[in-house]
Amino acid sequence: MPAQIIDGKTLAETVRNQVAVETRQLIYDTGIVPHLAAVLVGSDPASEVYVRNKERACQKAGLKSTLHRLDAATTQADLLALITTLNCDMKIHGILVQLPLPMHLDATQILDAILPTKDVDAFHPENTGLMLQGRPRFLPCTPAGVMKMLEVSQVPTAGKHAVVIGRSDIVGKPMAALLVQKGVDATVTICHSRTADIGAICRTADILIAAVGIPEFVKSDMIKPGAVVIDVGINRVNERLVGDVDFNAAMTVASAITPVPGGVGPMTIAMLLQNTLKSARQSAGRTSST
Ligand code: NAP
Repeated sequence: MPAQIIDGKTLAETVRNQVAVETRQLIYDTGIVPHLAAVLVGSDPASEVYVRNKERACQKAGLKSTLHRLDAATTQADLLALITTLNCDMKIHGILVQLPLPMHLDATQILDAILPTKDVDAFHPENTGLMLQGRPRFLPCTPAGVMKMLEVSQVPTAGKHAVVIGRSDIVGKPMAALLVQKGVDATVTICHSRTADIGAICRTADILIAAVGIPEFVKSDMIKPGAVVIDVGINRVNERLVGDVDFNAAMTVASAITPVPGGVGPMTIAMLLQNTLKSARQSAGRTSST
């Protein structure tokens, strides 16, 4: 039987609609309009698309979004000055710096400069630490989107072996950290470019999460029959979006799989909206139900 498709597009729409309802309520109760400030340095075509999609999603859900476009030659000092201005602006609840930044900029220093309470991407070390300790302020958007997909699809995680391919600070490491939290209770293995016999490890995974950045890296012979496969990858091949999993081949082995596009990508944006709403609620002294 072919794998069940885990439909991120539809689920993301449900989450965004919920954010829209709660945003209207927040505005009605407090007058506070959740406001995301996005910063785009240069004109990388993929980044342009990502930022546009995030802006559109904000608008549809009733959140305000402002895009700050900076020239590719912007200096570290100028970018830091903008972050400081946004940090101090009480009407801004979320700050997003679109990555990658041009090579001459120090991304770590920039991301560290974002006020943790406005760090809706959850990249700041304070937010990473809180997440690791199981008391998150914000969850990083992509791993949080994956967790939501597993939850809604009723994928059992307790005692299951989850294998995460990739150890980036943005996806792989936080993904593994969320899967191992109490209450989720997976047993987690992280693989990377120096992992020996990665195929053998992947074949033991009940849940296999690919965040490698190599088109169709995961072949069907790396998947345990009946495993749940989550494809985080977004790769452009001949103008086409391709994941990190050989989707057609994986369909014949896995029990469930996320497509690319229409899987994890839309969930990432939905989680960004949820974090921005949460930040706005927190600024109003309210706890968030999302
Ligand atoms: P990244 O920073 O480039 O990290 C890639 C990871 O894959 C690294 O840990 C690397 O290992 C590992 N890797 C590379 N080649 C490997 C190999 N041959 N065998 C095993 N591991 C290997 O990428 P990322 O930011 O985590 O993103 C990963 C993918 O997800 C990309 O396609 C990206 O576009 C996509 N993405 C999607 C979303 C979304 O919303 N869906 C969000 C973010 C990223 P080393 O650490 O040893 O180098």
